[in-house]
Amino acid sequence: MAIYSSNKNRLQAGILLPDKTVQNLIDFSIVIPAYNEEGRIVCTLKETAEVFENFNSSYEIIAVDDGSTDKTRENVEAFISSGASYCRKVRIESYSPNMGKGNALKHGASIARGKYILFLDADLDLHPSIAKELYEIIKTKDADVVIGSKMHRKSVLHYPFLRKLTSYCYYIIIKILFRLSIKDTQTGIKLFKREVLGKCLPKVIVKRYAFDLELLVAVNKKGYSIVEAPVRVDLKRQFGRVGIKDAIRVFFDTMGVFLRLNFKKYYD
Ligand code: UDP
Ligand code: MG
Repeated sequence: MAIYSSNKNRLQAGILLPDKTVQNLIDFSIVIPAYNEEGRIVCTLKETAEVFENFNSSYEIIAVDDGSTDKTRENVEAFISSGASYCRKVRIESYSPNMGKGNALKHGASIARGKYILFLDADLDLHPSIAKELYEIIKTKDADVVIGSKMHRKSVLHYPFLRKLTSYCYYIIIKILFRLSIKDTQTGIKLFKREVLGKCLPKVIVKRYAFDLELLVAVNKKGYSIVEAPVRVDLKRQFGRVGIKDAIRVFFDTMGVFLRLNFKKYYD
């Protein structure tokens, strides 16, 4: 049974808190989906908090434990009660069973109070300091969304050839099927203006890895601008966790988005 800390239906639908019910909107919400990240999550939270402490902005970090079966939740709770001054800006949401990265991001965004909402993977393959560059781009280019992109010519990628190849193949499929102006939908750091997620998240059906694609398709369809930013990727896990079963699921989910976009006109 799923355990949610507040309104389950709203959380599942990805409906953001209405601005008027949020007492004071803060500057940034950082949503971190975490599935079996007991070894990395505390380090990610610390590094993220340190980055945002230097921003001179108000922020909150929402870690979403997506049905982990290890000590992810316990480790975050221990960190929160460890007494460092920034710990009170960290929250943990937890539910069970595991439902997918997209579900975790939707859940976290639904309780976010930030004017800007950052999605950040929990494994530190992408350092949270990249957020600063994303924010500069969102400001200077007056973009609605800025996404980290492994396909950006200035990106520095330290990960195995096989992963580069699978990323590239997916990029080609997306290019053929969707003709988006962006090249890479899947990199785990993205910055959104609150309004964009408010409008687009409720449209997103996919709960697992093709969530990113579906969200960006919805964003694009609603006419919001998306800009790609360079990233540095340092793979921390020796072996990727996205297996053949996940890949097949991504394929079918991607086809689902294609059908909804072109035949059902679902994102119009
Ligand atoms: N994740 C999640 N639920 C899942 C699978 C992954 O919340 O069912 C989180 C995971 O902890 C990480 C992010 O989603 O923070 C990306 O997952 P992963 O690193 O496994 O994917 P990859 O980087 O290989 O695309
Ligand atoms: Mg990862």
